[in-house]
Amino acid sequence: MTASLERGLNALREQIDAPVASFFTSCVHCGLCAEACVFYRETEDPRYIPIRKLDPMRRLWRREFTLFGRIGAMLGLVRPVTDADLGEWETLVYDSCTLCGRCTLVCPVGNDITLMIRKMREGMSAAGHTPKELIGAAVRHVETNSLMGNLAPALRAQVKRSVAETGIDIGFDQPGVDYMVILSAQETMDYPEILSSMARIFKKAGISWTIASDGFEATNVGVQIGSRDIARILVARVVEAAERLGVKGVVSPECGHAYQALRWEGPNLMGRAFNFEVVHIVELLDRLRAEGKLPTKGMESRRVTFHDPCQINRRGGIDREPRRLMALVASDFVETDDAGAMNWCCGGGGGVGANERATKLRLTAFKRKKAQLEKVNPDKLITMCAYCHHTIEEAMEEYHMEIEVQGLTDFVATYLDDEPAGA
Ligand code: SF4
Ligand code: SF4
Repeated sequence: MTASLERGLNALREQIDAPVASFFTSCVHCGLCAEACVFYRETEDPRYIPIRKLDPMRRLWRREFTLFGRIGAMLGLVRPVTDADLGEWETLVYDSCTLCGRCTLVCPVGNDITLMIRKMREGMSAAGHTPKELIGAAVRHVETNSLMGNLAPALRAQVKRSVAETGIDIGFDQPGVDYMVILSAQETMDYPEILSSMARIFKKAGISWTIASDGFEATNVGVQIGSRDIARILVARVVEAAERLGVKGVVSPECGHAYQALRWEGPNLMGRAFNFEVVHIVELLDRLRAEGKLPTKGMESRRVTFHDPCQINRRGGIDREPRRLMALVASDFVETDDAGAMNWCCGGGGGVGANERATKLRLTAFKRKKAQLEKVNPDKLITMCAYCHHTIEEAMEEYHMEIEVQGLTDFVATYLDDEPAGA
């Protein structure tokens, strides 16, 4: 047995705890998770049935953690997990799963399949069976300040551009302000308009904020790759910057897994509670709306729909907030089928979008989103995750769909009434 296989199997063994054992014993093979998974639904390939993606882990559990399995192993009836198995399952665990959480929601016996796939990724990454793009992104992120490499100069340039555009100052490393804002690399590079939108909204609402020069990257490739160690290092950068600056909160940007990593997994990764709150930008905007601090002027009259990012709605609980904001600024808002907690994934999350060899499968999975959109025929699609934004835009180009895509913060800011009160 190679050292990397041994490392991988040990990592998998470490993941096998009571919930995992109860998962494997309680599955009633109903097939509901298959129907919930966009990869299975669009291909009908049985390899993409969620529960099947866990097969090496199930086999390891059976062989080493059950009496019948141990006897079976002695008699040569239950074969061991090999490096070739992990190699084969790499494409199932990384290419055909966005960690969207839809299978978990439908399982009648409450099995958290998504969590199990995360656990599988721990073993796969320890055994070296991880897509090369995710390994590269993880190395860049640990060695510099972002998964795209050193993004500090690009961020400073975007901030400078935003200040010139709005006339509103954005300070770095300012202690004692209300919020520290973090951004995903996707926003910094492709959708920097969020900076001007936040600057205008926060100024109007009287919120003070800053960006930490040593903790500005929101994405966490450790969560996607399945390495708690890397995830912890990256979360710690943000937590330590926020605590050093003494802010009352960290604003998580329009990025699904960044929110998941910091808000829900962060305290567990760090082994303690934070002394600041983590708030998603859309939650904060909805609070400002409720407090009367988000005055708007005019509305979008074209037909608009909304895409719920899996990690923010289904796995993050933010469902009504974007809809209240849409009601503020869109007069012809239409929901797609399955909108909300059961929304269909864009197909690019969980590292799938970064994984070159998964491109064909990702575009096949997108057909479900395409069907959702074609049914309501919108002029514009709003979302609250820059990576969904990017994935959807790219796939729509492939399928020649003419729908404009915009981030929710930017959409709301388009209609912000910037005039001083009484003007
Ligand atoms: S988490 Fe989503 S993509 Fe992954 S297996 Fe479950 S339903 Fe499929
Ligand atoms: S939905 Fe749950 S019980 Fe049904 S096959 Fe999937 S894991 Fe098993």
